[in-house]
Amino acid sequence: MNRTAECFDLIVVGAGMAGHCAALEAAHLGGSVLLLEKTAQYGGSTRMCGGAFAFAGTAIQKEHGIEDSAELLEEDLLKAGKYRNDRALVRTYAERQFENYQWLKQLGLAFEQVSLSGSQSVPRNHSISPVKVLDTLHAHYLAAGGSYRANSQVTGLLTEGKAGACTVTGVQLVDGGVILARGGVVITTGGFSRSADLVERFVPHLRAALPMGGYGNTGDGLKMAWALGADLVDIGYVKGSFGAPVRAKDGPEDLDAPRLLSAMYKGAIVVNRLGRRFVNESISYKAIGDECLLQPDAVAFQIFDQQVMDQSSPLPTVSDYKAGLAAGVVVKAPSIAALADLLGIDACALNATVERYHQACDGHAEDEFGRTSLSTGYGKPRKLLEGPFYGVACTTGLTSTYCGLRTDPKARVLNVAGNVITGLYASGEVMGGFHGETYMSGSSLAKGCIFGRLAAQDAVGRAKHAGVR
Ligand SMILES: Cc1cc2nc3c(=O)[nH]c(=O)nc-3n(C[C@H](O)[C@H](O)[C@H](O)COP(=O)(O)OP(=O)(O)OC[C@H]3O[C@@H](n4cnc5c(N)ncnc54)[C@H](O)[C@@H]3O)c2cc1C
Repeated sequence: MNRTAECFDLIVVGAGMAGHCAALEAAHLGGSVLLLEKTAQYGGSTRMCGGAFAFAGTAIQKEHGIEDSAELLEEDLLKAGKYRNDRALVRTYAERQFENYQWLKQLGLAFEQVSLSGSQSVPRNHSISPVKVLDTLHAHYLAAGGSYRANSQVTGLLTEGKAGACTVTGVQLVDGGVILARGGVVITTGGFSRSADLVERFVPHLRAALPMGGYGNTGDGLKMAWALGADLVDIGYVKGSFGAPVRAKDGPEDLDAPRLLSAMYKGAIVVNRLGRRFVNESISYKAIGDECLLQPDAVAFQIFDQQVMDQSSPLPTVSDYKAGLAAGVVVKAPSIAALADLLGIDACALNATVERYHQACDGHAEDEFGRTSLSTGYGKPRKLLEGPFYGVACTTGLTSTYCGLRTDPKARVLNVAGNVITGLYASGEVMGGFHGETYMSGSSLAKGCIFGRLAAQDAVGRAKHAGVR
């Protein structure tokens, strides 16, 4: 080991949700911690996300008469993942989620609302401003004595021992500097939605999706661990998210407009430019995203009425239809036909589509696409009757890549032979195996918290056990 290099018990690479939770947990456990962030501003995708956490059995659910449990949450996660998830990871999430919800609450984070979203059989998305979450975690971390460095891109992992059985001992920075870690390195670098190369290599079916997610999320951590023989899982399952308001792929991002909108779970229908529905709107917005990419120009329109608009709320941001209206991405018209004209949709076809949908809502006909609920069996579809009417042109956004490094339930990274790469941990979006075929809304933030803390617990224990502190 280089004796002149700085040394910490734990180094955490990437300062989003997962990184902050890992770093804070380690600091609370008395470890010396360094949190490194590539960009000037901590937060990554977490900063721009909807702020919804999937938790079950909470007080706010009980207040709203929502019956939920860890078992139902576990089953929903498996169902969404088509049972191709790593069951040990899903079980760990189910067992730990309530404790992590309480941990966040004890840090002063009040979850203001609970709502229904994709793949949830009951409303369980607990919403809060993601910026507030980050700032709160960051303040607690600094107060607990943790060190933080922005503009500090990690470019490689330092190791000892032979290939296939190495131990990770620290990190290399972009400026050539090295920093050592006694207990380990936690990779929390997020996904690769901003790397055109990795999108082309791993998820070419999503090359037409709108790149979203943190600006520093170019798959760095995934590549660093891959170089050490880390196993990669769930790569083929990645889906985009339906509901990204249309903008030019290389054009500027409108920071005032919601990044994603999902009015379909409140009763909107989704049609293509021909004015036809093409999907059961109650399924996961990930699965709708796949279908949207197959429509003309990869565009689809959420069409809704005033009853849905009246349910607009600032949180979760996917329900902030009023912000969409103010930013001009949601348009308003006095009739369905006038709305169709504004959106460039065939008006006759849209009227006929709405008429058929109403017939099904009234029970006079089977729904064309089998829609019988608002989301995953919950809530009844409603007619679009109350003007004015609203529409938003959307496409599929690559918000998160939710695949990558295989870990065990302690968040220890496994190599292709299934063995632990000693001293290497991963949490958050860079971690694979958890979601399986489809991602359940709200599970990414909570997963980053749960496994980030578990990684920290193991790594700090390792540093202490080695007796080298
Ligand atoms: C529009 C949108 C809405 C979403 N809504 C939700 C939601 O409501 N609920 C939910 O659960 N999920 C949601 N997601 C997904 C979720 O936001 C992310 O999956 C989650 O925030 C990822 O957290 P993370 O900590 O793993 O990564 P991030 O928050 O992306 O943080 C990773 C950090 O690592 C840094 N980094 C990268 N490479 C390096 C390097 N080499 N060295 C140092 N630092 C590095 C990055 O700059 C970044 O700051 C949404 C995503 C988007 C884009």
